[in-house]
Amino acid sequence: MNSRVALVTGASRGIGKAILHKLGSMGFVAVGTATTNEGAGKIDSGLAQADLSGKGLVLDVTQADSVASLLDEIRDRYSAPYVLVNNAAITRDNLLLRMKDHEWDAVIDTNLSSAYRLTRACLRDMLKMRGGRVVNITSVTAFSGNAGQANYVAAKAGVVGFTKSLALEVASRGITVNAVAPGFIETDMTAKLGESQQAKLVEKIPLGRIGSTDEVAHVVSFLVSAEAGYITGETVHVNGGLYMA
Ligand code: NAP
Repeated sequence: MNSRVALVTGASRGIGKAILHKLGSMGFVAVGTATTNEGAGKIDSGLAQADLSGKGLVLDVTQADSVASLLDEIRDRYSAPYVLVNNAAITRDNLLLRMKDHEWDAVIDTNLSSAYRLTRACLRDMLKMRGGRVVNITSVTAFSGNAGQANYVAAKAGVVGFTKSLALEVASRGITVNAVAPGFIETDMTAKLGESQQAKLVEKIPLGRIGSTDEVAHVVSFLVSAEAGYITGETVHVNGGLYMA
């Protein structure tokens, strides 16, 4: 797999950063995105420190022109991505009665429509390569539901349906499409919850702890490996037993 390009959206921190570094350590040219130049610079320095090949680039997953220019730059610098990890996401939590249109729209656009945009932009090249790997990061809440997150859960459940349908469309071309559904993982996203809410959540996790970003990254690294070539359309759960789908 050496010298093949792996593109990870939202790789400036959290789960995306761990995935980027894991794929870099497998020998991929690891291209990660952030929403700002500063974030892209941090990705560069993180990769350099870890002695990994790759680059940080700027991307707003909600903007079609940003997606197009990112792909142009990756093709110019390296070659088209063989691996795409749709990881970037946001939360705008609210009970449905209080939810604002902009909270609904931002989450659907950033967390679901982004997968459509990025994947469509990468797919033609994967078809030409007669191979490729798409991994979409969903969430345990896509299966369990979560009060206060109707927008986020709708987007993440949509990602699961997207994964299955696309897997069927491209299976004959040697491209696999899978999803990974993390439970509660230690990142900025879960830090927002506050200590007492976190403690209550941990009580419900059979393995008795919050998960690490590396534990999610390992699963992604398996799904993009040659050994996972017979797995497609699946969702792998990484949630400490919190929810058994
Ligand atoms: P995070 O720490 O909040 O990081 C989010 C990443 O997405 C950042 O790199 C951010 O870039 C990027 N991003 C946000 N808006 C973007 C946009 N419009 N365009 C491009 N990039 C954008 O998130 P995380 O906790 O690592 O979560 C990563 C994935 O795992 C997400 O899909 C999330 O839904 C899923 N997940 C997380 C958990 C958890 O417990 N943490 C649980 C289940 C699922 P900037 O740094 O530039 O803002």
